[in-house]
Formats: sequence, structure tokens, C-alpha cells
Amino acid sequence: MSQEDGGERRRRRTGPPPRLTLDTPVTYLKGVGPARAESLARLGIRVAGDLLRHVPHRYEDASTVTPIAHAAVGADVTVLGQVIATGVLPTRKGLRVFQAVIKDASGLLELAWPGQPFLERTITKGDWLLCTGEVRFHHGRRLQPREFVNLGPGDESTLEGRVLAVYPATEGLSVRWLRTLVEQHLDALLPLVKEPLPPALLADAQVVPLPDALRRVHRPASVADARIGRTRLAWEELFCVHLLHRRANEVAREARTGTPFENRRLLTRQLRDMLPFDLTGAQKRAVREIVSDLCSPRRMHRLLQGDVGSGKTVVALFASLLVMENGWQAAMMAPTELLAEQHARTAERLLAPLGVTPVLLTGRLGAKDRRAALTRLASVEPVLAVGTHALFQADVAFARLGLVVIDEQHRFGVEQRAALGAKGADGAQPDVLLMTATPIPRSLALTLYGDLDVSTLDERPPGRQPITTVHRREAARARVFEFVRSELEAGRQAYVVYPVIEASEKTDLKDATTMYEALVAGPLAGTRVALLHGRLPVDERDTIMRAFRDGEIQVLVATTVIEVGIDVPNATVMVIEHPERFGLSQLHQLRGRVGRGPGQSYCILLGDVGTEAGARLQIIVGSDDGFEIARADLRLRGMGDLFGARQSGLPAFRIADPVQDEDLNESARVAAEQLLERDPMLSRSEHAGLRQLLTVGYQRALELFRVG
Ligand code: ADP
Ligand code: MG
Repeated sequence: MSQEDGGERRRRRTGPPPRLTLDTPVTYLKGVGPARAESLARLGIRVAGDLLRHVPHRYEDASTVTPIAHAAVGADVTVLGQVIATGVLPTRKGLRVFQAVIKDASGLLELAWPGQPFLERTITKGDWLLCTGEVRFHHGRRLQPREFVNLGPGDESTLEGRVLAVYPATEGLSVRWLRTLVEQHLDALLPLVKEPLPPALLADAQVVPLPDALRRVHRPASVADARIGRTRLAWEELFCVHLLHRRANEVAREARTGTPFENRRLLTRQLRDMLPFDLTGAQKRAVREIVSDLCSPRRMHRLLQGDVGSGKTVVALFASLLVMENGWQAAMMAPTELLAEQHARTAERLLAPLGVTPVLLTGRLGAKDRRAALTRLASVEPVLAVGTHALFQADVAFARLGLVVIDEQHRFGVEQRAALGAKGADGAQPDVLLMTATPIPRSLALTLYGDLDVSTLDERPPGRQPITTVHRREAARARVFEFVRSELEAGRQAYVVYPVIEASEKTDLKDATTMYEALVAGPLAGTRVALLHGRLPVDERDTIMRAFRDGEIQVLVATTVIEVGIDVPNATVMVIEHPERFGLSQLHQLRGRVGRGPGQSYCILLGDVGTEAGARLQIIVGSDDGFEIARADLRLRGMGDLFGARQSGLPAFRIADPVQDEDLNESARVAAEQLLERDPMLSRSEHAGLRQLLTVGYQRALELFRVG
């Protein structure tokens, strides 16, 4: 929320302090010297108004604090007590441990901070401590605080009925000092805060006005009260990000001049008439959205997301054909050679009645075939090229590349995508369609990929056999492999997946290499089994995959290299060992390798797991919905793990969490879109406050809304 305001900030304090305003540099505040000002700046607090936006991340009150007598060994608790004794004790290993005993109305508890003897200087008898951590047994109950707040001295009555706000702190600033600083200035600052948003918007969103929200978060009457305040601030944050994203998208689109293709309904109509199935409603919608992008004078930049098996490839074919019937070329890029070959085969099959033969370009092509492929791409023939990153090597020249489709887009680096994007004729850039099988809620997708339009396939093609998914304990191991064997005898194929390639001293996980040998010697003896993992040379991996695809190999013992693997309709069993080691979305992707043919398919999660992991696995057992699973995965692991947030340029949120606050995010997205429809440049007078808010908080707003 703070603007770089260097000159103001560095000015030394001279003469009487000016009247406090929201823009008063923090150095003018009592008790804030240069060192603390620097620490405050690390928290994003530079002027007094920023203090208001420094919101507690946690609240405690009588209802959340555990009476000390009830803090049982093994429980994770927050306790509140007054220090009655302190001391520093050395351990046998020479570590010095600061210890304190706290007391509340119900009893006493020992606290310990190993390696932090210096706490002796800040925690003294009579202080009230709020501590969170797990209670362990160590000559009696003992808690090593994971987090603690020193509330200072006082008698019990001063804490009664109070909600304790815990502020994010930083090195050199204690939570207590921060709380005091905020508390001291709150009454002076709050009346200066003006509501930046029009009242109608607040009413629609059902959030409270800003001054009210700030009072509630800093001085809540109850934890529920604080939540109401936080909701407003989080909503506002999400709203601002959506406004900026939508506007950035608009600006980028205006700048992306592309080829306005015409919907001639030649090849696309033929494909529709000759498809052996009807498109699902979701596919039709996605095709419509893409056609509209392609036919606009703006270059398309769209993400098509849909669960495994939702039928993304056909949608991509429609897009390609539209470009081709306009005399342009289309290129479809897959992350592996096998996937590329599979796409080429699918395209060949579906497009044969139209007289269209795709050009396959991978690293495996011999010199002669490669030359032939390159010749076709370089002629002004409207071809569909299918391939791997081999498509954008330097010697590949497209005569008229109009569309690039990138499958499993997260598998490619940004540079790779850019390289193919630059393959258009005369530097003109082709339209881009990205595809992903890790679908996420639309508002979240828009929060993450601000510069993309998003189409979603949220419907499965009919007639797909549901996959039977079960979790089996170690005790059932023999029976599981007997079952696998019976499927093999019935002519089916199977995958057995492990989290690691080889045994290691650090873990006692079952590994693919050892288990391959054990399975071949034991339960799967006499069947054709192969070992597949990422450390094998690419050629060898390919040969194995091909042999499996062609039915020569019956069982693949593998690591997750098969995650984005090939489509083998005859494979009906997927056994996953140590399922607790995989993310939910990953398990779902793995499961998607079976259930691709007419036969009933099975996914067996095998192994003894703890209660928490067991509950997590039940999500996979109980749901076949990639959206639901991705959402649960996000909740459990956070966004970073799923998307590599650091490189995806995620906006940093101070208060909101677009995953946890999904409903709020959705409401903010809708509000932002509606507002921009009415007032695209936020130029109306009632939006002046909003413009101000955006420009202070977000550098990019200046250029996007040309405010100034
Ligand atoms: P994914 O979204 O995982 O890439 P694919 O495009 O590979 O899915 O499609 C999975 C399978 O479903 C393919 O065999 C495809 O031909 C088939 N398919 C696609 N759309 C439909 C539909 N509307 N009806 C029936 N089958 C379909
Ligand atoms: Mg696919």
C-alpha cells in the first residue's frame, strides 16, 4: 500500500512533529528510529497509513486458548499464562535452553526454547505469554513454542474478554511492539480513512466499509468481528488484482494484432459431420470461444483446461482446421515424442476423411523424412504439424504459421513457448492455444494467469467407464498382485508405479528397481514385465513404451515418467505403491492412464499410511472429478507446489489467499468484470477513490488505466 516516497522518508526529524496524516512517514512516529523504520519498511510499512494495512494474521480469545490444565501431551495448543519463573539451562550436548514456567487459573506449564538463551533478556517474571506449539513429554508436560507473543506484564483482568491480535513481525520488531505502535495511533488514524469504493459495490459484495473493516481487524470485539473486517480487506485485494488483470489482458489483446481468420466452415464443418461422436456441450462452447478469438483481429492467447479424457485434442483440431481453411498452417506441440506421435495418429485418423494428413516432426525422424517434413512446412501449403520441441529448432521454417497449440503447457519452459510463438511469417506472431489437464477453478485461473483467456472443459464425453479406485493395506498385497495377474491372463495390461527409482539409505521406500526384480521373481513370474524410469536413455524409454503400447510388454513397473504417457486402451490396472508420496493431482493423472478402453479399469493405491494421508487418499477414492481433486490439492499443498508459483509470476497477496478464499475470489472477479464493462478506464467520478487505491497499491495501474 505504500508508494516509494524516498525524499519524504529520508527527511530528518526537525522541529515540532507535523500533524499526523495517513502519509506521515513512520520516522515521525514516536519510538520509531532509523533502525526500526528500516525493519518496518521490510514489512511494507513506510507511512502511518501503512500501519492500518498491517493486519493481524491470527486472533486468539478465550474460545481459542486452551486452559493449561487441559493441554495434553501430543496436542497442538495455544495457551496463555503469566510467567512465574525463568532460567537458562545447558543440555548435555552443550545447547543452552531458555525455560519459563507459565501459570493460568487452571495450572502450570513448562516452556522451553532450545538454543535461545538470549530470550532471558526479553521475557521476565510477570509477563503474559501467548504460546502455540505441541505439548511433549519431557519430565512432565513441556511446550516448545513454535510461535509466541509476549503481551507484557499486567494483572489477569486486563486480558479478560479480550481478543488478542497477533501481527506478522519481522527481525528487530516484536509482535508486542508492533501491536503497541498500531494501538497508539489507531484512534488518530481511523477517522482519516476514506472509503475508496462506491457504496453500491460494497452492498453487492456484502462487505463492510473500509474504516469499519480496519477497526474490526485491529480492535475486534470478537474473533468473528475480526473475520468480517478481514473479509472486506481480502475481497478488496482480490478485486484490485482482477481489475488489473482484466485490464492488462485488454491492453495486451489490443496490442496483439493477429490475422483475422474467417470462419469459412469448410474443413471444420466436414470434421463435425464426420466425427464418430458428438461434441460435448463443453467442447462446443470451447470451440465457439476459440473460433471467436481466431476470427477477431486480435491474436488469441487462450488456455484450454480440462480433466484427463475431457477431449481437448479434438477442440485443438477444430482450431487448426479453421486456420488451415484460411490457407494458414497450424502446429501442435506435445512434451514427449510418444505424445506427439499419439496426437499425430489421432489427427490422422480423424482427418483422413477430409484428405488432411498431418506432418509429424520429432527428434526421431531420419534425415530423409525430416527433409520431407521441413519441405512441407516451408511451402505455403496449409498443413497441420504435430511434434515435440523439435518443431521450433532453428532450421524449422514455417511458411505461414497461424496457430500454435501447446499441449500440457506446464511441461514447457517459458522460452520454449516463446520460441514457437516467434515462428510466424515475417515476425508476425501466431495465435496461441495452451492446454492443461490440471484444471483449476476459473477465478483462480484468472488470478494466476492474468494475461490469458480461459476456456474450460468441465464435462466428460459420455460412455466412459468409471475407474474403480480402492485403497488396500499392506496385508492385502498378495491378493492385489493375484488380481493383477488375473487381469493379465484375461489379456489386459497393467502399470505398477513407485515414487523412487532406486533404494536409498535415507528412506525405506519401496523403489521401482528392487520391486521390479521382486515382482518378476515372485507374483508376476512368467509374465512380460519391463522397468521404466527417467534415468534410462530416452531411446530405451521410447522402445519400452512402444512395446507396451503394442502389447508386447504386459506390465510396466515405472516411476512417474508415465504420468504424461501414452494412451494404451488395453491397460486396465494401475497399482500405485506409497500413494502417500504423491500429490492428489498427480495420483489423478496417473489414474488417467487407465480407463481408456472399453474394459472395466482399476486403480489400486497400495500401502499402509497414517490417518492423515489415509484421509487424503479417500479424496481420490471418492472422486473422479479433476476439478474437485485439484482444488483439494491446492487447499492441502498451496499453490506453489502445484504451479511452481515462483516462476509463474503470481501476484503477491498480503491478506487474501485465492485458494482458501475461493468464494470471495469469485465474487471479486465478477464484480471486477462488471465494473470494467461499465467503466473500462475507471474514468467516472465515483471511481476516483478506486483509481487512487490502485495506483498507490499497484505500480502497473499507472500504465494500465493511464491515471495520473
Ligand atoms: P484429453 O483432454 O485428456 O487430451 P483426449 O483429447 O485425448 O483427452 O480425448 C480422450 C478420448 O476421448 C479420445 O479417444 C477422444 O477421441 C475421445 N473423445 C473426445 N471427445 C469426445 C466426445 N465428445 N465423445 C466421445 N469421445 C470423445
Ligand atoms: Mg491430451
